Amino acid sequence: MSNLSTDRLCELAELYALGGLSEKEKAAFEQHLLQCEACRAQREELKGMVEQLPEAAEPIEGRRGRVPGNVSGSKVSGREAAVKEPAPADGEPLPMLPRGARRRAAYEADKAEGTEPAVSYESRSTKTRKQPAAPVELDAADNRPAGSAGELSRRTGRAERKSGYWRWMSAALSAAIIGLSLYGYQLKGEMKQLRTELASRTTELHGAQAQLGNVNKPAEALKVNQIVSLNPAAENIVSKGLASIVNDDKGTHLIVQAENLPELQTDQAFQVWLIKDNQPINAGTFYPHNGSGAIYYTFEPKDYDTVAITLEPDAHGEKPRGTLMLAAGLKG
Ligand SMILES: [Zn+2]
Repeated sequence: MSNLSTDRLCELAELYALGGLSEKEKAAFEQHLLQCEACRAQREELKGMVEQLPEAAEPIEGRRGRVPGNVSGSKVSGREAAVKEPAPADGEPLPMLPRGARRRAAYEADKAEGTEPAVSYESRSTKTRKQPAAPVELDAADNRPAGSAGELSRRTGRAERKSGYWRWMSAALSAAIIGLSLYGYQLKGEMKQLRTELASRTTELHGAQAQLGNVNKPAEALKVNQIVSLNPAAENIVSKGLASIVNDDKGTHLIVQAENLPELQTDQAFQVWLIKDNQPINAGTFYPHNGSGAIYYTFEPKDYDTVAITLEPDAHGEKPRGTLMLAAGLKG
């Protein structure tokens, strides 16, 4: 005699049809089938339902039942063992196991939710043994003998309420919802990243715009540091010039103007130098117009001792090579 009460065995019908019972439970249920007309009827009904389930509902990994040798003997955990496909009985092909496994999962979920499970898998033997045989009391209370037509309709009704279809729809919907949630989560992540990138780009743009605005802005609080007259380097030079060093919020600038400059020959150019300890820095090249020219040069604030204009053979010299035209000493 099984240690499971009849009432609880009746609730295993769906798991049985879906192949979700352990070997022990399956044996107990099959024993029970011999005595319970309601369960026999339900088994036939569920068998029809299971056969109609679309193949598409099967997990990709396929049926576990096709993998031989993992029903028993192999080292598997109790939980894993619980979802192994039971060996087919009476030559009757049992339905696909993954479905049974899922049905099992639903069963486990019920248990976790607090719904009284049909069987306690942890302490079945001790727990259920202590319980009085439920059906006797139930049937007595209903004043119906066990196995009567009343019980049959009651069992069938329960089967309908807990229809496998609902379980499958529920599982499929859950999978779809999980999939959509993950997709949504991924999208959210991407959106967040894009927003961060956009914010960063916007900041860069604002920075660039501010810089551009700075360039276009008129000089504020331009302070003249010093103005020196450029002196001809030779007596025959009639050119005159002026060098100004000014500061504003954009930096330090050298402004050099010159007039009465000689006409340039082909390729020739005037170049301006800032010199410190005989080390000249190229401050700019200019071509005069009607003998007058100017340059504007921004540099790091540094003490130069001399500013000079030379007449160069071309515009490409990095050091003065030509004739010194005008020069002036700068204050330190
Ligand atoms: Zn039954």
